[in-house]
Amino acid sequence: MSVSAALAPVEIKAPLVANPDLFSAKPSLIGLTREMMANALKEKGVPEKQVRMRVSQLWHWLYIRGVSDFDAMTNVAKDMREMLKAHFTIARPEIVEEQVSNDGTRKWLLRFPPRGAGRPVEVETVYIPEEGRGTLCISSQVGCSLTCSFCHTGTQKLVRNLTSEEILAQLLLARDRLGDFPGADTPPGAFVPTGERKVTNIVMMGMGEPLYNFESVKTALLIATDGDGLSLSKRRVTLSTSGVVPEIYRTGEEIGVMLAISLHAVRDELRDMLVPINKKYPLKDLLDACRAYPSLSNARRITFEYVMLKDVNDSLEDAKLLTQLLKGIPAKINLIPFNPWPGTNYQCSDWATIEKFADFINQAGYASPIRTPRGRDILAACGQLKSESERMRKTERLAFEAMMIAGHGEDD
Ligand code: SAH
Ligand code: SF4
Repeated sequence: MSVSAALAPVEIKAPLVANPDLFSAKPSLIGLTREMMANALKEKGVPEKQVRMRVSQLWHWLYIRGVSDFDAMTNVAKDMREMLKAHFTIARPEIVEEQVSNDGTRKWLLRFPPRGAGRPVEVETVYIPEEGRGTLCISSQVGCSLTCSFCHTGTQKLVRNLTSEEILAQLLLARDRLGDFPGADTPPGAFVPTGERKVTNIVMMGMGEPLYNFESVKTALLIATDGDGLSLSKRRVTLSTSGVVPEIYRTGEEIGVMLAISLHAVRDELRDMLVPINKKYPLKDLLDACRAYPSLSNARRITFEYVMLKDVNDSLEDAKLLTQLLKGIPAKINLIPFNPWPGTNYQCSDWATIEKFADFINQAGYASPIRTPRGRDILAACGQLKSESERMRKTERLAFEAMMIAGHGEDD
């Protein structure tokens, strides 16, 4: 593939979706538990005996039909719609930028309104289409309070946690843009086969540490996996954490989705440097929490993510320790070639080293796929997300992309 072709992701300048409520202080009805929504409606005078029915009507329109305009709710009486419009919003965030990689990966930069105090914030969401499935990589925070030394997001200070609305809005917006909601002519209640969905899986692997934003992540994921919500199977939802041990226990008990652990090192001294939260929750505590994760089996394994850093964590000795450490845990090991970003001092391990490492792990009986970097031309790969003021200027980005493509020609 020529460099010029690879340098031409489709880039759409904003706003694609003009959000009329961008500066409105109206609260959103998206991302509320049934109980929270019922309380919000009661406060605005919806009679007690109607509330349950109204909540299920609203859930149906918001999550099954995917509407973002109260007037589309055709079985809700007009005066009720007017009341809802006066007090609430269900508008989508604004799309500041949409990029489509030449491998089909899409990245959206989304802007959320301040809703009262503060200023708008921007986050990135990535869609990765693959054979037989489509995965949406969702952000949980703007920036990150942790400072993993190989991660671009970690260089951006935490701006704030996202709300459950904002977490869920990333999924709703991706479904809009991919035409993944039933069409206007689909009869209410019609069955839409999951196999035909574009977003079949979600991973909490975007910006931020989801377990430092537990309540909002929990509410959003429970709506995403509710049969009357967005109906994703819990087996198709993966939460990735750098290792916030107490909340790993809570994730198992209260959310029940699949777990991924950003392991990256098998010795405490090294992990303290790469993933500094290790100083608070060292490997032993982390692996105890993994062993206790509910309903693990061969069909329900924990994914251990391991970024391949040249001459740092990529020796066969590391591979051996890794397999010893995970003994007794139903595990998959996901080797991630390091995705460089401007200013980093790390380099990705050589391909031959990654293969040797993978072979060793395979022989020890672990599935260890090497994650193919996706969307590199639009900086959408793992650990490359970073938004807002600190994003690279366009000229800087083009220079970086050219460097990436020159260094990875064999991948294309
Ligand atoms: N904060 C969470 C989820 C977001 S990061 C976590 O750390 O698990 C998603 C994955 O990308 C994590 O495994 C993270 O360690 C990895 N990652 C971060 N920067 C990377 C980079 N530059 N190259 C490859 N993987 C990276
Ligand atoms: Fe935060 Fe995860 Fe990046 Fe660490 S790897 S800085 S926890 S986003």
